[in-house]
Amino acid sequence: MVNSQVPGGVCSSRACAGCGGRISDRFLLFSMERYWHTRCLKCSCCQAQLGEIGTTCYSKGGMILCRADYIRLFGHTGACSACGQSIPASEMVMRAQGNVYHLKCFSCATCRNRLVPGDRFHYINGTIFCEHDRPGATLLSSHLQGNPVLPDQKVC
Ligand SMILES: [Zn+2]
Ligand SMILES: [Zn+2]
Ligand SMILES: [Zn+2]
Ligand SMILES: [Zn+2]
Repeated sequence: MVNSQVPGGVCSSRACAGCGGRISDRFLLFSMERYWHTRCLKCSCCQAQLGEIGTTCYSKGGMILCRADYIRLFGHTGACSACGQSIPASEMVMRAQGNVYHLKCFSCATCRNRLVPGDRFHYINGTIFCEHDRPGATLLSSHLQGNPVLPDQKVC
């Protein structure tokens, strides 16, 4: 990703961490401990330019992300909603309603069975239930359709 071959004097010119090219002061941006052309600091997911003033960017697992993608991928905290431990960027996660979970933590609150891709689950008030243990299964109607479980790789 980073071009380590800096042509010319290393001290007199800065290389862009995005394209490896030289940066003139006018377009210099310092972010994530590196220098960037304004146009080269982009979200790894949606390619939105993050060089605008006031744009917050996030870095995790070698990716640079805009705020929306960071929250989409890692949740608001980057931690598993079940156990509270942070999830390494390389790990697969399960997602429900904007929360992220370790694969091992994504299990039914009643029977503790782990939900795997292909299972249907119900997400009710922040708690996950398998198809069988859905509370009030006989009372509830159409608005509580099960969601298919989809495995999700956090890297786009
Ligand atoms: Zn560049
Ligand atoms: Zn983005
Ligand atoms: Zn967890
Ligand atoms: Zn269950």
